[in-house]
Amino acid sequence: MLDKDCIFCKIIRGEIPAEKVYEDDDAIVFKDIEPKAAVHLLAVPKTHFALLSEAGKEGKTAIARMLEKIPDIALQNGCSEGYRLVINQGEAAGQTVRHLHVHILGGEKLGW
Ligand code: AMP
Ligand code: ZN
Repeated sequence: MLDKDCIFCKIIRGEIPAEKVYEDDDAIVFKDIEPKAAVHLLAVPKTHFALLSEAGKEGKTAIARMLEKIPDIALQNGCSEGYRLVINQGEAAGQTVRHLHVHILGGEKLGW
């Protein structure tokens, strides 16, 4: 299920552009518009929910399948030396888009 006002749902529906690097039935992966590392991708399940605690059956399946694909996607996009995955959950963690997404950060030596 997608949400009519959500920015990532709009990207999934093709209503707003994104620099897509991967897509399948479960997820889409595109470049972050404000990169925080040399490589900064967002992996987004094609089901609208904000928090892991809100993932239904469909969402959980999509996340699991998406995570399986991430190593190959990272490798093909400049992260052969390693990468970091981040999932911000809630306002205090800095989550600004309330559609669950995994940040893929790499392409350089990352500080903590
Ligand atoms: P978070 O703070 O974890 O919710 O991450 C949201 C991320 O989405 C931020 O890193 C933003 O730069 C990124 N973002 C917001 N709008 C877009 C967009 N239209 N296309 C690509 N990335 C976006
Ligand atoms: Zn959404």
